[in-house]
Parts: sequence; structure tokens; C-alpha cells
Amino acid sequence: MTRVICVANNKGGVGKTNVSVNLPVFLAALGKRVLLVDFDHQANATFSLGINSKNLPLSIYHALMGHVSPSAIIRKSPFFGYEIMPSSPDLAGATIELVNTENREFKLKEMIDKVKDGYDFIFIDSPPSLGPLTINALCASNEVLIPVQCEYLALEGLEQLLNTIRLVKENLGQDVKITGALLTMYNRNNRLSREVAKEIRRNFPGYVFDTVIPRQVCLAEAPRTGKTILQYAPTSLAAKAYRELAEEFINLSPTT
Ligand code: ATP
Ligand code: MG
Repeated sequence: MTRVICVANNKGGVGKTNVSVNLPVFLAALGKRVLLVDFDHQANATFSLGINSKNLPLSIYHALMGHVSPSAIIRKSPFFGYEIMPSSPDLAGATIELVNTENREFKLKEMIDKVKDGYDFIFIDSPPSLGPLTINALCASNEVLIPVQCEYLALEGLEQLLNTIRLVKENLGQDVKITGALLTMYNRNNRLSREVAKEIRRNFPGYVFDTVIPRQVCLAEAPRTGKTILQYAPTSLAAKAYRELAEEFINLSPTT
């Protein structure tokens, strides 16, 4: 069974792309077959894997619009064979183009269903909104992983995300479970960071990953080099955290 995981949080800049790029590579290193779907027109995940989205002749936009088959756009990264469906700025227009399309919430799911069998895990990096693209990402997934930044107002907007997940289940019939909330950009020397982490664990008992992703400069630097943290700084605390996250993630079955 392929696990399809949407990495989502309507709040911007919380680490969605960082998690979407770095968690899969540690799963790939464990021998898992992994695909990352970049479903954000900012194309940050695509860039982070060393692909220049501006020069891409074909991206997820073209597959979504049915111009090409989804397998035609998949690229293999040099990192343990981990694969990516790249995005490009064209995807911004998809929201409008999808308006009058039948089954518009399921366009990404239709695409993913065609390639799904080749993978153990498919991660979808989603944009910071609850618009049509994020709805498509949720409708294509069995699970949601929610990165939560260890900062002031971390939980702001989370209620809307949880409500959207509920609406997707009830009105669109897609049974998406919550894998868990993942604390990101944690600074153990900062009191606020520690307090926020504690508060989140108190608010969502049983839903928060034991592993936390530290705030480390190497995680912000790696994207510029087109490498994941496993190649850029394999012995860093950040790489250690992602390695532990991969192990925790494999053993965790999502809760409702
Ligand atoms: P958006 O909502 O715009 O898609 P996002 O939720 O995908 O943002 P990221 O792009 O992953 O968030 O992270 C926001 C910024 O913080 C980026 O510059 C990234 O390099 C940096 N960053 C992410 N995680 C960490 C971390 N653990 N430590 C240090 N910097 C980080
Ligand atoms: Mg992002």
C-alpha cells in the first residue's frame, strides 16, 4: 500500500517545504521508493532539489491540465533515486483554469493514481493557503502531516486547516487521516520555543511527533546548493533529527 502524505499548513513559512524535501530522502536512504510532488507555484521544493523551474518545459501544471501524462514529468534526483514531480510558476494559473472543470477537487488524485504503484511513499508539498490547490492535495492524500513552527502564534489558523480536513472527509468522501503535527524550527535555548512546544503537545496529545526539527542554519542554506540536508550536512543535528523523524514516521500509523 502506497502512503500518500500531504504536507500542509495554511500558515506560510512554517517549514512545509523543508520537511517535504528532507524527510523523503531519509526514507529513500532506507531503501523506500519515494516521490515528492511539488504542488506550490512558488516551486521552492523543485528549486531545493537543484531544478530551475523557470526553464522547465514541462511541469506539474502541464500534467494537471492533461497536456502530458504524469509519468512524463517525473525526474529522478541524484539522492538515493528519490523522484520529484517539479512545479513551475504556471501552476498559479491552474486555480482559475480548474474552476469550470468537472471533478476539479480530484485532478491531482487522478494524476497520482496513475503513478502511485511505483512508490512506497508520495509526499505532496502544498501552498500556504486553503484554496483549490490545497484542497486537491488533501483529496489526493490518505494522510496529512502538519509542520508547526515553534514560534508565537504557532497555532493560529490551525483550526481552519483541521476544519478543511473535516470538510474534505464529509463532503468529498476522501478519508484523510492526521499523521501528526511536527514541531519545526525548534530552538532549545529559547524559552519561547520551549513553551510553544509544550503548549502544542498539551493541545494535541497523541498527535505530535516525538522528533522535533531544530532551527539550524544549514537547513536554510541547503536549498541554495540543490542538495538535501543528507548531502549538505550529513553529520549535523538537523540531519540527525530528520533521520530520527524518518524512523518514527515509518513506524507510525495515522490517527483519525
Ligand atoms: P511557504 O508557506 O512559503 O511555502 P514553508 O511552510 O514551505 O513556506 P519553508 O520554505 O520550508 O516554509 O521555510 C521557510 C524559511 O525558513 C525558508 O527560508 C527555509 O529555508 C527556512 N527554514 C525552514 N526550516 C528551517 C529550520 N528547521 N531551521 C532553519 N531554517 C529553516
Ligand atoms: Mg513551501
